Amino acid sequence: MRIRVANAIRQTGEPFAFEQSERFEPQEFGERTIVFHDPVFVSGTYVYDGKAFSVSAKADASMEAVCARCTKPFVEQVSFSFSERFVKGESDAAEDETYSYSGDELVLDKAVLDNLFLELPIADVCREDCKGLCPVCGADRNSEDCHCILQEA
Ligand SMILES: [Zn+2]
Ligand SMILES: [Zn+2]
Repeated sequence: MRIRVANAIRQTGEPFAFEQSERFEPQEFGERTIVFHDPVFVSGTYVYDGKAFSVSAKADASMEAVCARCTKPFVEQVSFSFSERFVKGESDAAEDETYSYSGDELVLDKAVLDNLFLELPIADVCREDCKGLCPVCGADRNSEDCHCILQEA
């Protein structure tokens, strides 16, 4: 996901709008592999301050997930916003809050993915009130009432 920023370099301080969507490859994140269901959509603004770019954007991603309660596959939607700075050349190790760019192009992929990973829920649940599987007979309690007596632990 790249944006051409030559216009902003010529007009310091002037914000420019952008919109991008891109189909990302599956991403390894800790123990899990994130598989995207649709292209990730990002829209926002970028502005050059004479030294670095500031990018503020909103993003929408949808990913393949499996419900932690009922074990059904579903599509998980995650929307988030982020603001990041892009500094020319090799990024300074002391300043790891920034991303680097070269030429007149910003590559947003890493910033988008880093921010997406921060937004991922710890457990994927197909819906807030998913009742999950019966621990006794394994029935999906969203669709059937199996009448098992649950032992209180
Ligand atoms: Zn579920
Ligand atoms: Zn049951």
